[in-house]
Amino acid sequence: MTPRAAAPASTDQSPGFAALGLDSRLVDALTALGYEEPTPVQREAIPPLLAGRDVLGQAATGTGKTAAFALPLLHLVAPDAEPRERTAALILVPTRELAMQVAEAVHKYGKSLGVCALPIYGGASMENQLRMLKRGVDVVVATPGRALDHIRRKTLRLDSVKVVVLDEADEMLDMGFAEDLEAILQATPQERQTALFSATLPARIAQLAEAHLKDPVRVRIDREVVPSGTAPRVRQVAYIVGRAHKVATLGRVLDVENPTSAIVFCRTRTEVDELAESLNGRGYRAEALHGGLSQEQRDRVMKKFRANSADLLIATDVAARGLDVQHVSHVVNYDVPSAAEAYVHRIGRTGRAGREGVAITLAEPREHRLLRNIEQQTKQKIEIAAVPTVADLRARRLELTRASIRETILAGDLDHFRVVVDSLAQEFDIMDVAAAAVKQADAKESGADEQEIPTAALRPDAARGARDRGSAQQAGRGPEKPRRARRERATADGNVVRVYIGAGRKSKVRPADLVGAIVNEAGVDARDIGAIQITDRFSLVEVPDEIADEVIGTLRATTIKGRRVLVRRDREQST
Ligand code: AMP
Repeated sequence: MTPRAAAPASTDQSPGFAALGLDSRLVDALTALGYEEPTPVQREAIPPLLAGRDVLGQAATGTGKTAAFALPLLHLVAPDAEPRERTAALILVPTRELAMQVAEAVHKYGKSLGVCALPIYGGASMENQLRMLKRGVDVVVATPGRALDHIRRKTLRLDSVKVVVLDEADEMLDMGFAEDLEAILQATPQERQTALFSATLPARIAQLAEAHLKDPVRVRIDREVVPSGTAPRVRQVAYIVGRAHKVATLGRVLDVENPTSAIVFCRTRTEVDELAESLNGRGYRAEALHGGLSQEQRDRVMKKFRANSADLLIATDVAARGLDVQHVSHVVNYDVPSAAEAYVHRIGRTGRAGREGVAITLAEPREHRLLRNIEQQTKQKIEIAAVPTVADLRARRLELTRASIRETILAGDLDHFRVVVDSLAQEFDIMDVAAAAVKQADAKESGADEQEIPTAALRPDAARGARDRGSAQQAGRGPEKPRRARRERATADGNVVRVYIGAGRKSKVRPADLVGAIVNEAGVDARDIGAIQITDRFSLVEVPDEIADEVIGTLRATTIKGRRVLVRRDREQST
C-alpha cells in the first residue's frame, strides 16, 4: 500500500455531525471546538432525539454523552428571534459539579444559537438564580432538590418544557432522589420528550424508564463485543492524573519509556495542536496530524515521522485512520477513548509483527469507569501505574548514561582521554574520577522539568467523591433535608466510618474479596482500609470518612461474589 492510497478520508468526507441532521450553527460550533466526528453514543443517540423520540442511553462519563443529549436538545429548543420567557428544556443531574459542567457544555455548544442556560443547585445564591429565572432561561440544568424548591416556590415554571434529560440517573437514585424526580416529572407536560442516561441499567432504572419514557430508543455504547484475539498483545498501562498535570505526566512517561516512535491520540483538533505545541516547547520532536490539514501538509508530516525526524505523532482518530505506519513502539491515549473499539484500533498500531508494544492511557479520575469498561470488553488487563517520580526519572536516566558509557568503552579509541584520567588519578581516587565523569555525562541529559507530579487518587478528589461531598453539603443546607434521609450528614474529617455490606461468610465472602472490590473498583489505596469484620450474613469494613461515600457508591454499583448487595454506612456506628 502506498501512503497516499492509504491516506485517511478527511473529516469533510467522513460522516460527521452535519450528516446527523444537526443545525449548521451547531456543526460550526463543533468544528470550532475541534471535534472531528461524533462518538458512538452521539452517532446513536442524536438522530432519534432529533426525530423527537425518547431515548434510554447507557453511557459513562467520557463517552461524549453530554453532547449526545445537549446537541439535539439545542437544535430543538433554539429560540427564534424572540427571547423566550419560559424554560424549554430541563436537564436533571445528581450533583452541583455536574450541573455546572453540563450548563457550561450547553453554553459552549449553543452560544451561536443564542440559547441561555442556567445551572441551579443547592448551596448557591438563590437571588442570582431567581433573577436569572425571572429574566427567562431556555435550558435549566438542575440538581433535583433545588429544582423542586424552585418548582414549589413557583419560580421555575415547567409547563412549556419540551425536553427533559435525566443525566446519570443511577447516581440520582443512589443519592435518594427518586421521589424528587417523580415530583419534578409530574410538573412537566405529558407530551414532552424525555432522555435518560445512566452508566448502569439496574432494575430501578428500568422502572424509572418504564414509568416516564415513551417507547424509548435504546442506545448502548460498547454493545459490539470486541472479537477475542483482535486486541493485540501489548503491555497496557494507565496513569490516573488530573487534567492540569496531563502534559507534565506525558512528558515524564515519555522520558522514562523512551519510545523509538510513538503516536499520541487526542480527542480534538484543538487538543492535537495544543499538545504538539507544548511538547515541542519541552524539547520533543512532535508533529500534529488532524483533519484540518491539507493533503500536502499531511504528507509532509508523515514523511517526517517515517524518516524519524519526528519522534511523536500527535493525531486525532480520524486523521490516523488508514495511516500506513508499520510499527510504533508506543501508542498513547491522551484521553480515554470513548469506546473499546477505538481503543483496540488505536493500540493495534503497536505490538505488530511479534514486536513488543506499549499502550499508555492517561485517564482523569472521572474516566476510571470508562477504563474498566474497556478492560471488560477487551478481556485484557490495563495496569494502573503510578506516575513516575523524579527519583524514577533519575534512575532511568542513570541507566541510560551507564549504557552509553559502556558503549563508549567498547568502541575504544580512548587514548586521548587516558592522559586526563592519569593526571587526575595522581591527585584523586580513580573511583572518584570516574564517578565525576559519570555525573557530568548524566547532568547533560537532565531536563528542566524535574518536579514531582501530584498523583490523582480515585477518591476524595475524584469527581464522584467530590460530587458526593458537594451534595452532602447541599443536603445540610436547604429546607429539603428530611426528604432525603438516606443521605449522610458530613462528619468531621479524620473519622473512620464503618461500611455495612450485606454479604458475609454464608456468601463465601473473604476479607480479600472486600479489599479487592474496594481497591479495584473504588481505586482506594489498600492501606486506607481499616478493620474488616465478617459475620455470617454481613460484613463491616472501616474506611476513612472522606472516602466513605465514594466506596459506598462504587460498591453499590459493583457485585460482590457475583451479587449486587446492600451497602451503606453502619447504623450502629457511634461516631
Ligand atoms: P462527556 O462524556 O460528555 O463527559 O464528554 C467527555 C469529553 O469528550 C468532553 O471533554 C467533551 O468535550 C469531549 N467530546 C465530546 N464529544 C466529542 C467529539 N465528538 N469529539 C471530540 N471530543 C468530544
